[in-house]
Amino acid sequence: MKRASNLRLLAGVILLGLAWTGWAADRKLVIVAGKPSHPPLMHEFNAGCILLHKRLQGVPGLEVRLHLNGWPADAKAFDGADAVFLYMDGGGGHPAIQPENLKLLGDLAKRGVGLGCAHFAVEVPADRGGAEFKEWIGGHYEHLYSCNPIFDAEFKSFPEHPITRGVRAFTIKDEWYFNMRFRPDMARITPILVTVPSDDVRDGPYVYPQGPYPHIVAAKGREEIMMWAVERADGGRGFGFTGGHFHVNWAHDDFRKVVLNSLLWLAKVEVPDHGFDSAKVTDEELLENLDPKGGPKPTLRSAADRDDTHACCEPLVLPREMLAWLGMPY
Ligand SMILES: [Zn+2]
Repeated sequence: MKRASNLRLLAGVILLGLAWTGWAADRKLVIVAGKPSHPPLMHEFNAGCILLHKRLQGVPGLEVRLHLNGWPADAKAFDGADAVFLYMDGGGGHPAIQPENLKLLGDLAKRGVGLGCAHFAVEVPADRGGAEFKEWIGGHYEHLYSCNPIFDAEFKSFPEHPITRGVRAFTIKDEWYFNMRFRPDMARITPILVTVPSDDVRDGPYVYPQGPYPHIVAAKGREEIMMWAVERADGGRGFGFTGGHFHVNWAHDDFRKVVLNSLLWLAKVEVPDHGFDSAKVTDEELLENLDPKGGPKPTLRSAADRDDTHACCEPLVLPREMLAWLGMPY
């Protein structure tokens, strides 16, 4: 009898140990930065991801793996992932919709892995990845249905959600996308960043194609969603963040906080009540790790100048055909 009860005790201790280990295991976030594209200080996926990765170091219960310069060559990069964040060029060349990668992401989603996409990475062709993106992150940018003007978006209030914790009202210029192709009835989607674009914004020009689109103009006065989050039926989470064109925006504390909060939430790591506070981004840091794009070394104007107008980064709006002609990805 004594031996049997000792064995039971031992089994109990082992089970408890396993349960504790499972509970305590770090959540793994895989960040993938796309290949260089666009003129300097725009679409700086590598520098942007390095900056975010640096700030997520030491978060209790979170392990972050960073992959630079495009989709990891070895699919093992995604082993054990609890969440995947993609900040890269999308559209028809989106690495995520290449058949083997689409399958890989589908397999991850089936086991509840989160997927977050920023800026161009939210765009996929409707008939190639559209259905999957609606399922995984709630929606996607659809060419000629969505639009991509550059404007100062004013975010005055936020819904009650872990991603908005500690985020103060802010206004910032970016190439904000809106009128996404969302799931029917916005099922399980929470709009996170919402603003009413001015009539001028709707009238265009958009970055590409310049527009304006009649259906965008006809919706004057309507609120539009620049960032959203979804809780999938499979237990996984997803989000789309449409900003991220201008690298200097990472220096804005609230802009950065809403993205860092979303990365914690995506990986199911508790977001602090006051949101994730991270180190300020200095001008020096903004000029670190930039992709080699030729031409003179980029510089920043004074911080005041930048906060006022983001004048250092007035967009060089080039049609995609011209970017293609120049041999630049777009
Ligand atoms: Zn852009």
